[in-house]
Amino acid sequence: MYISTRGGVSPVTASKAIYQGLAPDGGLFVPQTVPSVSQDFIAKLSEMTYRQLAKEIFSLYLDDFSEEEIDRVVTAAYGDNFDDVEIAPLHSLDEKSHILELWHGPTAAFKDMALQALPHLLTTSMEKQEPDKEVVILVATSGDTGKAALEGFSDVAKTKIIVFYPNGGVSEVQRLQMVTTTGKNTSVIAVEGNFDDCQNGVKAIFNDGEFAKTLEVKGYRLSSANSINWGRLLPQIVYYFKAYSALVKNGAMKAGEVMDVVVPTGNFGNILAAYYGKVMGLPVGRLICASNKNNVLTDVLNTGEYNRNREFFRTVSPSMDILISSNFERFVFEVNGRNSEDIRSLFGALVKDGVYCLDDDTVKRMSDVMCGYFTDEDDTLATIGKIYQENQYLIDTHTAVAVNALEQFRADKHDKIVTVVDSTANPYKFNKAVYEAINQAGSSDNMDEFAISAALERQTGVAIHRGLLDLDKKEVLHKKVVKKENMQSAVAEILGV
Ligand SMILES: *Cc1c(COP(=O)(O)O)cnc(C)c1O
Repeated sequence: MYISTRGGVSPVTASKAIYQGLAPDGGLFVPQTVPSVSQDFIAKLSEMTYRQLAKEIFSLYLDDFSEEEIDRVVTAAYGDNFDDVEIAPLHSLDEKSHILELWHGPTAAFKDMALQALPHLLTTSMEKQEPDKEVVILVATSGDTGKAALEGFSDVAKTKIIVFYPNGGVSEVQRLQMVTTTGKNTSVIAVEGNFDDCQNGVKAIFNDGEFAKTLEVKGYRLSSANSINWGRLLPQIVYYFKAYSALVKNGAMKAGEVMDVVVPTGNFGNILAAYYGKVMGLPVGRLICASNKNNVLTDVLNTGEYNRNREFFRTVSPSMDILISSNFERFVFEVNGRNSEDIRSLFGALVKDGVYCLDDDTVKRMSDVMCGYFTDEDDTLATIGKIYQENQYLIDTHTAVAVNALEQFRADKHDKIVTVVDSTANPYKFNKAVYEAINQAGSSDNMDEFAISAALERQTGVAIHRGLLDLDKKEVLHKKVVKKENMQSAVAEILGV
């Protein structure tokens, strides 16, 4: 069963937690008890495919799903939609440093790891909760999430997905990735406004009770695919077990030996999944939370003060440009002894004043498992150059932030133990910064995004990710542009209500 971090709802089943997304008291769902696994359980994972492994982990968390239902979910989620049979393969830089490539899915970013599974978890949950309804997913996106959600939900029965993006506010590659999406149930709409306008518009649609009633009469239920849904977190736990088993299997580590994990962090979902893996009994030592210049998490981990009242930076690692990391609430809940009263006051203060302070005991328990480092823009690009020179291996800007954090961590006199570094995007997804990092600043100024990718491929021999190939040759299927006041009527028109 699942409970809310804010303590205001009675325990619900897994399907209800996934179907509701956010708990009705404004909190986030967490398992009432985190399941634990034995070393025997972990040992047997080494012989499994990714699907089998996902099935084992999902079964521990989805009590009201049948074995057959879980089987259907993992079969649909992890197959030839990934371009590597390992799904999440490791690339070793040296004996102790291993990159976990989480971008082999259709859209070249790690969000596929969860968003290829979520639609199936959600529709299975809907069948249990409201079998007559069709889910309508609304997404406001500044780029990556929109495409990953579109690919995940495309042609999934009993779902529709509508994505809003700021007109002129996403990169040309990101725009083309979205507007060329196939699938009978997908819609992509440009909004005359910025990302905040898109997000506010989507929130307003969710909060309009009358509209929800109109939709309900027609058999529709609105939902979201954002990273606070337990159905997005759960699939992310799986690849930490996968990485561990692979390292034991290939001899990099003995069974039972501890590994550290470094995660380039934004909304805190990915690193939280690693934390739950550790709580379950996976031998994880330290979790290293890597941030870019938007280093609110580095500060809270070091000082106990979370303060979002600060300058916001646009960086070369835009998927981590976040000042409010929603999933951090779950982590605070786990380390403060699951004290909901505390959570209510802390996160109330965050909304009201933009700042809260953790007590010393909580800070101490946090620092026992996690530490934070941040990397500025110059060091991010320098890290890409260095890893390419030394290892002939190309990493993207987000991964570079994580690699740099690991270097800082080790320079702080921590022993060099086996460490997994999450690689969250394919380098071609952030081609301009990557190209200039291995050449010179300004070297791509006269090239469009397609020319940059072609030049990068010629220079490095690394193939362009298939999800980013020939985008300029695909048919544009979504051309609608709306004013920000008209987002709701656009939804109504698509649904015929
Ligand atoms: C979303 C994203 C992140 C941040 O992940 P969180 O789970 O939100 O912390 C990091 N890198 C890339 C490329 C992403 O798309």
